[in-house]
Amino acid sequence: MRQIDHFIVGGAGRAARKGAIFDPNNGGVQAEVALGDAAVLDKAVAAAKAAQPAWAAVNPQRRARVMFEYKRLVEANMDELAALLSSEHGKVIADAKGDIQRGLEVVEFCCGIPHVLKGEYTIGAGPGIDVWSMRQPIGIGVGITPFNFPAMIPLWMGAVATSVGNAFILKPSERDPSVPVRLAELMLEAGMPEGIFQVVHGDKEMVDAILDHPDIGAVSFVGSSDIAHYVYERGVRAGKRVQAMGGAKNHGIVMPDADLDQVVSDLTGAAFGSAGERCMALPVVVPVGEDTAERLRDKLVPAIEALRVGVSTDAEAHYGPVVTAAHKQKVEGWIAKCAEEGAELVVDGRSFSLQGHEDGFFVGPTLFDHVTPDMESYREEIFGPVLQIVRAPDFETALELPSKHQYGNGVAIFTRNGHAAREFAARVNVGMVGINVPIPVPVAYHSFGGWKRSAFGDTNQHGMEGVKFWTKVKTVTARWPDGSPDGGNAFVIPTMG
Ligand code: NAD
Repeated sequence: MRQIDHFIVGGAGRAARKGAIFDPNNGGVQAEVALGDAAVLDKAVAAAKAAQPAWAAVNPQRRARVMFEYKRLVEANMDELAALLSSEHGKVIADAKGDIQRGLEVVEFCCGIPHVLKGEYTIGAGPGIDVWSMRQPIGIGVGITPFNFPAMIPLWMGAVATSVGNAFILKPSERDPSVPVRLAELMLEAGMPEGIFQVVHGDKEMVDAILDHPDIGAVSFVGSSDIAHYVYERGVRAGKRVQAMGGAKNHGIVMPDADLDQVVSDLTGAAFGSAGERCMALPVVVPVGEDTAERLRDKLVPAIEALRVGVSTDAEAHYGPVVTAAHKQKVEGWIAKCAEEGAELVVDGRSFSLQGHEDGFFVGPTLFDHVTPDMESYREEIFGPVLQIVRAPDFETALELPSKHQYGNGVAIFTRNGHAAREFAARVNVGMVGINVPIPVPVAYHSFGGWKRSAFGDTNQHGMEGVKFWTKVKTVTARWPDGSPDGGNAFVIPTMG
């Protein structure tokens, strides 16, 4: 059985506990991952502590060169990484490459890190007084990541954290940990000093050790909302800087004037791609007006029935299995619940079975119509290939649905009307908005983050927000007097007036 170990300086020794890594295409166990504890974390932190000051002292241009080389290496290993990612997660190979590519784009941003680390400077803020600021690394930062983007999310955090001068420890999902380890190995190969990018594995026990560790200054978390909230509270209580991104239930508003063929193509991809296991998936569609709803449904049903579900290595498949048997059961439980709650089950994916892969964790595409906001299956995240139609009589009702939902990660509006789109973007109570863009994940040099229960803390991921999160500002006020007495009263708070 393949063993996946921690990637820490000096190794971690024998693991007392292990977790199973499944093959979602077939249902079997393909590997075991070491589940670490506080002792493993202590070793990683000690190595990080020893290595970080020298790394922070490396000039930013040289740190950026590691990112340039890293980009080259990840690109050179793209096929191997995508195959490994797909084999543990279940997303199709092309989508696995997209996962890695979106992470690489953050690495590209970090190739320009000297530019963004430049501070501010005011000459002559007072008589003979200059003021300047600098961004310094926190010291040791940790990233705790979910299963659904095992390459992109570790790189959102790890590339920014290290290129600004921190030592970074990654605690990836224990469900698909192999790619995170490969990403760390490639960092070392790219010239990153030992101890600057390490990986520890584990579950709640390891997360709690991280949150309580006195030498860890910052924790970035992405996962489900209840755990995000817990991580945020416990980490902040221990005096750490914490950002914690949570779950989502993104809505796509379809206005009567939208190009419905385009909408159907966008929607099927955004609702069912990666088996719906994306925090920026579109699992709720809101047609505005009964006529729009009927026209949309007529086009949507055949498009959904034509979707090809296959093993993750099938180049023709639109999506593959979900990550575990437990997750398949949970998604199917939500389908049953939504039907019980009185929604119309238009396409039922529960009976789907792939010949030759009967034990794989497949869920067929599922469509509900006449879903209403009081249903629990609407209020909660399903995180599977399930699309719910919630009909809205008018624009104001459609605007209210995502605005009042507990989650506020992403939202999209489909329309040809610029005024409606502009109004919607300005007024909707959600953090990331797409206008005729179904999955509005911001590019790497902008920042990613939702609102409400989709994110706890006040900085986003990557871009300048990421740089802010992983650094602290120091401001220096310097005076070089010319020697003449200034006659000021040293007992009065200094002003520049
Ligand atoms: P998860 O919350 O189960 O796990 C996330 C991380 O928390 C993992 O590293 C896991 O080991 C750890 N963890 C699990 N249980 C824990 C516990 N009881 N105490 C402490 N730590 C614990 O999430 P997941 O199932 O891996 O990922 C899917 C979720 O992540 C979905 O809710 C999805 O919407 C969300 N997500 C959000 C974003 C975003 O940016 N907002 C991005 C991707 C995924």
